[in-house]
Amino acid sequence: MALSQLVGRLIGVREHVVDPGGRGAPRVPHPVPAVVVGGGIAGMSAAVVLAERGVPVTVLEAAPTVGGRLGAWPEASPDGTRMNEHGFHAFFRQYYNWRNILRRADPTLGFLRRIPGYPVLSARWPTEEFGTLPPAPPANLLALLLRSPSLRLGDLRAMNREAALPLLSYDPIRTYAEFDDTTADALLTSLRLPDRARAMLFEVFSHSFFNHEAEMSAAEMIAQFHFYLLGNPEGLAFDSPGEDHATAIWQPLTRHIERHGGRVVTGTAATAVHRDAAGWQVASTAGAYPARHVVLALDPPALAALVADSPVLAEVAPDLVARMPAFGLPGPPYAVARYWCAGDVAPGRAVFSGVSRQPTLDSVTLYHRLERESRRWAERTGGSVVELHAYACEPGVPAEELAGRMWTELAALWPEVGRLRICDLRARVAAQAPAFPPGGHTWRPGVRTDADRLYLAGDGIRTDFPSALMERSAATGILAANHILRAEGGATEPIHSVRPRGLLSRRG
Ligand SMILES: Cc1cc2nc3c(=O)[nH]c(=O)nc-3n(C[C@H](O)[C@H](O)[C@H](O)COP(=O)(O)OP(=O)(O)OC[C@H]3O[C@@H](n4cnc5c(N)ncnc54)[C@H](O)[C@@H]3O)c2cc1C
Repeated sequence: MALSQLVGRLIGVREHVVDPGGRGAPRVPHPVPAVVVGGGIAGMSAAVVLAERGVPVTVLEAAPTVGGRLGAWPEASPDGTRMNEHGFHAFFRQYYNWRNILRRADPTLGFLRRIPGYPVLSARWPTEEFGTLPPAPPANLLALLLRSPSLRLGDLRAMNREAALPLLSYDPIRTYAEFDDTTADALLTSLRLPDRARAMLFEVFSHSFFNHEAEMSAAEMIAQFHFYLLGNPEGLAFDSPGEDHATAIWQPLTRHIERHGGRVVTGTAATAVHRDAAGWQVASTAGAYPARHVVLALDPPALAALVADSPVLAEVAPDLVARMPAFGLPGPPYAVARYWCAGDVAPGRAVFSGVSRQPTLDSVTLYHRLERESRRWAERTGGSVVELHAYACEPGVPAEELAGRMWTELAALWPEVGRLRICDLRARVAAQAPAFPPGGHTWRPGVRTDADRLYLAGDGIRTDFPSALMERSAATGILAANHILRAEGGATEPIHSVRPRGLLSRRG
């Protein structure tokens, strides 16, 4: 354990237990069917827990493959079939609940590779490295303030330190009461940071949540600062699978669910939910599925569409229905472009880099230095596989055009990129990420709905403890499963979180 983690432990920066789990039968005494709609991280996490406790669970997934925004699928290419994916994902070490689910696929998590370094690139300022900070607060914060070339002593004196206190004082209730109506942009402006510090330290971070600062709630930014930097003992370290997400995650998790008696049905979209005497009927493109319990584990637009197509919910879940018009509006579109190139980038380039202040490009991943299939392709051809992401881009621009813009912006940062010949390109643009606008906390739905035995899960669903992105999907999936297990007499799954409040929070 690093010294910073020991010091952090003394002030409560450690893995916390939200629910120890247990208090029920290892298998439910009277199994009743459950249907999980959506086979992304949230739905599959719920299904793993339910199947293990003997609940006959069926996952309905509209796409031909499971995984949702972490999915992977085979695609034809000039040199045969290869896997394509939704893109690089950072598996942070404080994703305790998601990692517990992943241990069902591989108990040692041996498929995860440590990603060395976390550089942020900029056309204006030298690259800044965040991967070498001590893992735990307060040492990581102090090291950042002392070491970052973006913040000098004079800048710290000129900064509005009072305005910075909320970043250190996250509280699951007070932070939202005080800051949810403010934008992240206004909060950052109030800090009076030099432009460089704002660009290199904060803007990369807020973009990673698929929202623009001018349209994102300041409370959400404070919560995410706490979750990723100031409230966890693992720091900004992250890992990523050394194989495609289907091989490393989704195939083993599907087998695990099936071995425990669950079913995963792909290529089948739920079209409505209805009530009957026994509970629910989930109508789908492949017939109706009866269920005592239903978990809707959908991205926000899909959830809003399914709720709108289910008239019974107006009667039995009016609160859920009322939240949908605002919740169903996704954040800005995100774009992913994977390039197969003749030739390689300079040997010293990092596997993953964040990018600051480019109009489109937000991150670069060198897949041929990370993932097996890409590595093999590069070894065979002498080429490289480079993936570019834009997390919050201009609406209405076609995927190929966004890919071209990102490539040009990368060439301005890494000149050798301009000399690489592009052999193949897969470009996509989509808008499915949840929006976190100012004031959104009031209408954000939680896992429980106002209808009996109908639950929600996903990265847009509210949790009472710090969580985000993949970790929030997994945590809400487990929470939904736990509600069902409690109702049916089964033992619940443990839930963990980072330090529940900020270092300077009054109740911390
Ligand atoms: C490019 C990119 C990079 C990312 N990077 C990171 C990262 O580095 N770290 C991180 O933590 N997170 C990252 N994320 C976010 C992460 O992918 C999501 O938070 C997470 O995958 C969401 O999972 P989910 O299960 O909540 O939703 P989804 O994955 O959206 O799952 C919903 C599922 O429901 C299905 N569905 C929709 N309608 C229906 C219907 N009517 N019937 C049946 N099924 C339906 C969909 O096909 C989908 O499979 C990234 C996302 C993207 C797109």
